[in-house]
Amino acid sequence: MPSAAIGLGGNLGDVATTLRSAVRALAALGRVAAVSSLYTSRPWGVTAQPDFLNAAVLLETDLEAPELLRRLQAIERRLGRTPGPRWGPRAIDLDILTYGDLRLDESDLQLPHPRLAERAFVLAPLAELDAAFRPLYDALHARERDSVRLAGPLLPGGETESLMSDDHQPAGTPAPLAARVRALAEAFVQTDLVRLRIEEPNEDAIELRKPAAPPAAIAPADDGSDSPASAPHLDAIKADLVGIVHFSRPAPLEGERLAGDRELAYVEALGIRNPVRSRGAGRIATITVRDGAPVEYGQVLFELDRG
Ligand code: ADP
Ligand code: MG
Repeated sequence: MPSAAIGLGGNLGDVATTLRSAVRALAALGRVAAVSSLYTSRPWGVTAQPDFLNAAVLLETDLEAPELLRRLQAIERRLGRTPGPRWGPRAIDLDILTYGDLRLDESDLQLPHPRLAERAFVLAPLAELDAAFRPLYDALHARERDSVRLAGPLLPGGETESLMSDDHQPAGTPAPLAARVRALAEAFVQTDLVRLRIEEPNEDAIELRKPAAPPAAIAPADDGSDSPASAPHLDAIKADLVGIVHFSRPAPLEGERLAGDRELAYVEALGIRNPVRSRGAGRIATITVRDGAPVEYGQVLFELDRG
């Protein structure tokens, strides 16, 4: 039976009660295999609104993805969701984060969820349920991770147990380092990545490498010291996770002027697209990476002249 990860969130009314009702409603669509803890998060996009509560559920279901989305929207309406602005306040939001390995790019359904890799409020509960998402969570900027806090259990222990079978226990605490490294290594061998580095506070860094590295046609990373990339008028746009970089279309060109915020490329890791944006206007002074190349965390991809 396909397994879907569902993201739950809301910031209007008695949200914890609404999210608990949603989990019970999800149980009618298949088998609830795992329920995350409850997290609080600062709002994204439209920031002048109450904090959100978020959680995630793993659901094994025979419903196909489009039908699952329709059923989630019906649950949202039943639990008091009314039409409102994007990223605005809502009683409940139910998103399909992943549906097995399915990739879809329809106008009304994209899978995996296109903004999954950018958001701690999605990745924190998801990584709790599936260690394969832990590297993406760890790759988020510390500021983004800090916008989300563990708030406690979503369902009382007894009810969590009764909704789930014995062979699926969500981890209430982060997995130990050894388990995380094992999960990461398993994910790593299935990707095109050639090198992964794991850094933990108070631990030695762990590095994983594949033996046959492809030709290194990449400019050296900006180490923040005396490279030209750190010249004061140039703004280095860096990769914020390890993966394969793909230029967005139309492909960015050296010398090109950007009027404002634009997606220049995306870094693909574990099948998920993580956009690289110009973060405002400027002129592309240098493109220090080639389309399709593997990139490291912190590697300079573009240098923008903001002058
Ligand atoms: P938000 O993106 O903030 O969750 P909405 O819940 O209003 O906003 O959803 C907007 C639209 O996103 C929906 O009409 C739905 O068709 C579309 N959508 C695309 N992909 C997904 C997905 N994976 N899960 C849920 N909705 C999706
Ligand atoms: Mg939604």
